[in-house]
Amino acid sequence: MNRMVEIETFNAEEESVEISLRPDAWSEYIGQEQIKKNLGVFIQASKKRAEALDHVLFFGPPGLGKTTLALIIANEMNANIKVTSAPMIEKSGDLAALLTNLQEGDILFIDEIHRLSPAVEEILYSSMEDFRIDIIIGSGPAAQTVKIDLPRFTLIGATTRAGMLSNPLRDRFGMSFRMQFYSSEELAKIISQASKKLSKEIISEACMEIAKRSRGTPRIALRLLRRVRDFADVCNEKDIQHTRTQYALKELGINSHGFDEMDLRLLRLLASTNGRAMGLSTIAAALSEDEGTVEDVLEPYLIANGYLERTAKGRKATRATYEILNLAMPDNEGRIF
Ligand code: ADP
Repeated sequence: MNRMVEIETFNAEEESVEISLRPDAWSEYIGQEQIKKNLGVFIQASKKRAEALDHVLFFGPPGLGKTTLALIIANEMNANIKVTSAPMIEKSGDLAALLTNLQEGDILFIDEIHRLSPAVEEILYSSMEDFRIDIIIGSGPAAQTVKIDLPRFTLIGATTRAGMLSNPLRDRFGMSFRMQFYSSEELAKIISQASKKLSKEIISEACMEIAKRSRGTPRIALRLLRRVRDFADVCNEKDIQHTRTQYALKELGINSHGFDEMDLRLLRLLASTNGRAMGLSTIAAALSEDEGTVEDVLEPYLIANGYLERTAKGRKATRATYEILNLAMPDNEGRIF
């Protein structure tokens, strides 16, 4: 059978490079060992029973490999996959059209699934549970409900904010997996593998240098690799060397902890409060970012590495924050010692 892989995306240019670097087999998917192990079992079991895989939910910050995992699952299941994201499904009719076009065993991947409107979510419930949708035709007293049976399909949902999913939706996923940040060693492997696909050799110290500065995130690692490659190409260098990498990363404004300018602005802001906690809305306003970006994109890496603490009163800098910023840590009364 010829599998169909359909990807709808907002950012076509960036996405096309990413697609070419995307692993399509387990062997190329580095890290997330526990998830791979469990998924491997569930895939094998459903293949043995010749059934569609149960619905799967992935959650975690952007760029950690959720879409890639969905594509690998489709590959393993030898199933067609349609990749879309919640903001593209505006009306219930959009979802109905997607669902009624599916065939037995197909996979529907919905990114940012927490952003579905309540009306669309409602339709998803019955389709996930009973493989049936009820469509209302017409309005007022003459309105009629038409029931449409759907083939057994697998929904794979991805979200950066598991907390924003409604309980009924979360409960309808047979499995859910939390994605972890990657270690520098894992990222170095991902970088080395991608550089082969880009036909540009990179020495291992350079891989490690990029890995350490990638906020534990493959998408960032691959983006930095492409930028460092630009520097090497412009200098007519055949391979990517360590010193060129260090130079390029410095030029790109990425410090040795992997923090970018936005991380540093957030940390400096928190360190400027004399030890007091700061609310999310104040942080977002001070950084001119929306609260969702602060919560989903900026904070998880800083929290995972002990540079930011979430308390009942708001966000606080930690001892590690003051240390990397070379600032004195205030005591409980806000005095600096
Ligand atoms: P998400 O859906 O979580 O935002 P993606 O699946 O789009 O992340 O991954 C971003 C990029 O990182 C992709 O181009 C993919 O090639 C790469 N990538 C992610 N995870 C891995 C991994 N475990 N091994 C190799 N490459 C990965």
